[in-house]
Amino acid sequence: MSQGTLFVVSAPSGAGKTSLVRELVESLDGIQVSVSHTTRPRRDGEVDGVNYHFADVPGFEAMIERGEFFEYARVFDNYYGTSRPAVQAALAAGQDVILEIDWQGARQVRQQLPDAVSVFILPPSREELERRLSGRGTDEHAVIERRMRDAVSEMSHHDEYDYLVINDDFTTALDELRALVVSRRLTRERAGATHAALLQALLA
Ligand code: 5GP
Repeated sequence: MSQGTLFVVSAPSGAGKTSLVRELVESLDGIQVSVSHTTRPRRDGEVDGVNYHFADVPGFEAMIERGEFFEYARVFDNYYGTSRPAVQAALAAGQDVILEIDWQGARQVRQQLPDAVSVFILPPSREELERRLSGRGTDEHAVIERRMRDAVSEMSHHDEYDYLVINDDFTTALDELRALVVSRRLTRERAGATHAALLQALLA
């Protein structure tokens, strides 16, 4: 069996990354999203162990000390990180794995695993991003401005990624992400390992 592929997906808040990734893994077999650890407070509707593994700062720092993170970063004053054993086990079992992480984490992944495929998701326009970041219209101007600044800062790293996907039409963006995953599975290395018995029979 061949190793799965590690996909890194980054985006500014408001680009629709989480919904796209959720639909992507529901529409394909053999692919899963890694559940990150974080020290940020749980939001309404989030479930521990599903959206994130919620940790306190001492617990997270102890995991750093023990070298348990594949990558980790401080994002907006909180720690976020990907635990190494779960990702390694899934890849070794031939599963594709998606890391939904920021640009700092993406850099650390590239250093350790140059074969990882990185994708940056962008909103279709500045106006649309601002609209998506305004939420239900109840947030203060200053809060929205800060979200825009954070989004622009994240997007400034788009040029470090292998692929760009624009999330204008959701279905089109989903098709494009799916095409990336499928095309990796068709590389000679991956497909040759998957179909080793077929190749042996064909060449006998
Ligand atoms: P949120 O708090 O809105 O769920 O996520 C905030 C940011 O943290 C997003 O840019 C998200 O991609 C990033 N993030 C989530 N999990 C991880 C992780 O495990 N590692 C890194 N480096 N960033 C993460």
